Amino acid sequence: MSEEKSEKTHKLEHDRPNCIGCGACVAVAPDFWEMDDDGKANIIKGKRKPDETEEKEISEKDFKVNMEAAESCPVNVIHIKRLKDDEKLI
Ligand code: SF4
Repeated sequence: MSEEKSEKTHKLEHDRPNCIGCGACVAVAPDFWEMDDDGKANIIKGKRKPDETEEKEISEKDFKVNMEAAESCPVNVIHIKRLKDDEKLI
């Protein structure tokens, strides 16, 4: 069912203040990450919080590509949490 597929299962988090703008996440997952004019990456349609970190809830089908983006980040500022138990996976 398409509804099931779009159910949010994970939370993508970006510690944007510490992003060095290398572009690796954008190369790996261009449907979720883009470069901004200030030279740092953004989560596309992510929510920007007052502390300048970003977050976005994603569904199971989008977990793998974002895990690859997180693994590609040289300064480890991309994190993914599982929503059901708040377990930090990376
Ligand atoms: S891979 Fe990490 S440091 Fe590089 S642009 Fe993406 S979030 Fe920023």
